[in-house]
Amino acid sequence: MANNSFQEVLDRLEDVNKYLNLPPPIYNRLRCPRRSLIVSLPVRMDNGEVKYFEGYRVHYNTARGPAKGGIRYHPNVNLNEIITLAALMTWKCAIVDLPFGGAKGGIACDTTKMSRDEIKGLTRRYTHEIFMLIGPESDILAPDMYTDEQVMAWIMDTYSTIKGYSVPGVVTGKPVCIGGSLGRKTATSQGLVTVLLEAIKHIGLSQKELTVSIIGFGNVGAAAADILSEKGLKIVGLADSKAAIYNPKGLDIKAVKRHKAEKKSLAGFKDAEQVSIDELIGLKCDVLIPAAVEGQINVKNANTVKARIIAEGANDPTTREADKILNDKGVLILPDILANAGGVVVSYFEWVQDIQRYFWHEDEIQKRLEGIMTKAFKHVLTISQDRKTDMRTAAMILGVGRVAEASAVRGLYP
Ligand code: NAD
Repeated sequence: MANNSFQEVLDRLEDVNKYLNLPPPIYNRLRCPRRSLIVSLPVRMDNGEVKYFEGYRVHYNTARGPAKGGIRYHPNVNLNEIITLAALMTWKCAIVDLPFGGAKGGIACDTTKMSRDEIKGLTRRYTHEIFMLIGPESDILAPDMYTDEQVMAWIMDTYSTIKGYSVPGVVTGKPVCIGGSLGRKTATSQGLVTVLLEAIKHIGLSQKELTVSIIGFGNVGAAAADILSEKGLKIVGLADSKAAIYNPKGLDIKAVKRHKAEKKSLAGFKDAEQVSIDELIGLKCDVLIPAAVEGQINVKNANTVKARIIAEGANDPTTREADKILNDKGVLILPDILANAGGVVVSYFEWVQDIQRYFWHEDEIQKRLEGIMTKAFKHVLTISQDRKTDMRTAAMILGVGRVAEASAVRGLYP
């Protein structure tokens, strides 16, 4: 993520305030995180040494409810990035009208070079150090890059051990056997596909003829590839952190998955051309789905984009400068704060089920998820048509507007 990513959040807030004209006390409140905690985490490594890692947890805004947001384990994690992502979570939860504020957390570490025991030790110590912030009523964690349901299970167990009883609602995205929700694993991608198909319908394209490139082949990217190819769209390009592959005739997703499972990389997949990730962004496709890291579509490659639609699975994948270039080219961008909100929607369902200790059937979850995503898409589209703006600005008008309304009605303390 660019070092000045939070500056982009502030610049985008300034852009959207031209439409909202918020009173200065409210506007200024939305320009800073409510609280940011930095923790130092000693972990005994397998070789006996004690290594220190830096971790963060940020509550950006809690006017609409408890803080909600994922945690990521990545070497580039830093406070600026976590504040940025916590701000995006705040707008996102408001856009899909969930009773949550926005949070994010993370640890600067490289889990690819750590053992399972080391990751477990790091996770338990992190949970202990941020204990004063988290809980089902105050701050609910979830997976993000390089964290998964096992990490969530360790957090839930550590938190519950300290409390003395099971508290499943402190995390979402945990295994079903300890209170996870059916449908959570694929929720972000399901939501993304719902929004994408609505957009395709809106601009009058036929989904059967469309080609798709996806950058990132993890939780979000791989599940999106599965769902889209099941629906008859042709996946022509895929990338992970090490390689990118392209075949204009279409990739066999099952074969790609087998290759990735075996080789731990997309590199060398034989039925495709090997290209760089930047090249893939500029290769022909109708839909481009960034589903990896921030800032991947930027001023250097935005002009090369051939896609008609960009559906943002990743958080903050398009820089503000790239946004302008793409909007001028007429590319329809389905922004992260709308398009990838499916994960937090089913996280909300999981939290509700945990609190009630009453679990829903998967078809119920899918139906409700689709309903919320479709409603949010239509609401954002109407705003974009009424205010003659791009979809990101329209989504921000909706999300920031709702957070501002809640802040105003709650008033100032003391
Ligand atoms: P993940 O760790 O499961 O997968 C990340 C993928 O991106 C991997 O395939 C990795 O190889 C690839 N990658 C990493 N660096 C890359 C690079 N520089 N270029 C190309 N590929 C690269 O993570 P995820 O959960 O799928 O999350 C991906 C993105 O989606 C993140 O931005 C995350 O914040 C966002 N997101 C995730 C969820 C969720 O439910 N998991 C919800 C909302 C948003």
